[in-house]
Amino acid sequence: RAAGFPSRKLLEEFDSEHPHSFDRETVARLGKLDFVAAHRNVVFVGPPGTGKTHLAVGLGVRACQAGHSVRFATAEEWAARLAGARDAGRLAEELSALDEHAVLIVDEVGYTPFDAGTAGLFFQLIAHRYERSSLVVTTDRPLGRWDEIFGGPSALAMVDRLAHHAELVRIDGESYRMRRVGGAWAD
Ligand code: ADP
Ligand code: MG
Repeated sequence: RAAGFPSRKLLEEFDSEHPHSFDRETVARLGKLDFVAAHRNVVFVGPPGTGKTHLAVGLGVRACQAGHSVRFATAEEWAARLAGARDAGRLAEELSALDEHAVLIVDEVGYTPFDAGTAGLFFQLIAHRYERSSLVVTTDRPLGRWDEIFGGPSALAMVDRLAHHAELVRIDGESYRMRRVGGAWAD
């Protein structure tokens, strides 16, 4: 079944020579998928274009190949889906239904700020999956600044649960989209 990946990206296609810094060993270890069995989360943090979505999709494709169910959507799409369930009075059922997926990928946390109601929905998602299943999150905002995305007290509680059993991968460097190849702009 389709996992909703925006495009198929493989870990093998990730050029680890591209001049940006990230923890290659951690990414290689994540590719072995131990985090799925351990119900741990993965958080990719870094500026735009540094390959966060690529790595998240790459892990997702691997997990699918290993027989796990995976669902990919942007933070905004997850927010809309959870808000729809809440408004229909079936948020608890929706959260339980998502348990069938060993891995949920939440892409682009931080590109749009969320109101308190939506922050509460993300808190419930993270709290529900805590020590039960995995979330793979990409964000341009360090976790310590998530209060700028999710205003109010739920930001701290959210980050606390998300980060407690998480592999945090920081990626630094310039955008791969803007890279220069042999003195010329790529693509
Ligand atoms: P981000 O999600 O961090 O904004 P993306 O993962 O969307 O960045 O990467 C932007 C584009 O550059 C994608 O097409 C991705 O496949 C490619 N890309 C980024 N980093 C690398 C890399 N190190 N090796 C190969 N392709 C890369
Ligand atoms: Mg991205």
